[in-house]
Amino acid sequence: MMRGAWIIDQGGEDITSMFRVTRLLHEERTPFQHLEIYDSPRFGRMLLLDGAVQTTEGDEFAYHEMLAHPALCTHPAPRRVLIIGGGDGGVLEEALKHPLERVTLVEIDGAVVQASRTYLSTICGRAFEDARTELVIGDGIAFVERDGERFDVVLVDSPDPAGPAAGLFNAAFYARAARRLTPDGLLVVQSGSAVYQQELIRTVRQHLAPSFPLVRTYTVSVMTYPGVLWSFTVGSLRRDPVGVEPEEIARRIAGMKLQYYTPAGHHAAFDLPPFLRVQLEAEPA
Ligand code: SAM
Repeated sequence: MMRGAWIIDQGGEDITSMFRVTRLLHEERTPFQHLEIYDSPRFGRMLLLDGAVQTTEGDEFAYHEMLAHPALCTHPAPRRVLIIGGGDGGVLEEALKHPLERVTLVEIDGAVVQASRTYLSTICGRAFEDARTELVIGDGIAFVERDGERFDVVLVDSPDPAGPAAGLFNAAFYARAARRLTPDGLLVVQSGSAVYQQELIRTVRQHLAPSFPLVRTYTVSVMTYPGVLWSFTVGSLRRDPVGVEPEEIARRIAGMKLQYYTPAGHHAAFDLPPFLRVQLEAEPA
């Protein structure tokens, strides 16, 4: 919603964030959603889908580094990665910092990829041009349903559970994703706000549990998301992210010039504050 030169991103019923913007750079109604790209003094270019901030030049590193690196540093030797959603290319760019053979990105809306390559090159860099990148425009749910190659890590960079993304939060999708993993495989999903979507996080954990012996939630501060404190949840077939030695993480990320993710930060992110741990470990209503 545009009033004056401000955008308002309504998070839950009772929480919202507002950002001053200076220009609407691009707008289109795609077959799936309302896509807008604004310029803003504080966070640079901002991508919104259906009025919700997805990513900005000013803070994308926090979300994208914390979605990609914890799992990629937990897997003993990742080579094949699947990204579902993530059409802005930010998590793709982070994943490609690892010595991977191939990254398959399945985005349902080609317009998001196109607009991001045109207006958000500071976020996707040359990730879409990388020889290891396989871009598939299509539904990620249908993609994992099909039999096919197995992946070491699957990263789900989706919006909130609505529209085409709703099915990316259910147990059937997680079970199929688990079948597309190699034995040491890990699945990571954005699981919503740790402030106003705790019910969603509980549900995601409950939906992962039948398919993954190990389920762990961790947090990240995303300055442009309502309430700031956001969450990811990992489903792991056997490798525990909490068990990775800081020295091993330091070795894996050496030379990557990261702005948020660190060996100590990895462990701190999984060490949930008691108020949150109690909330998340409670049974979903
Ligand atoms: N980081 C953002 C967030 O947390 O809200 C998400 C950013 S990324 C742009 C989300 C992408 O997921 C969108 O481009 C959307 O088109 C895509 N998406 C939604 N449902 C999908 C599906 N079923 N399969 C593949 N991509 C999907």
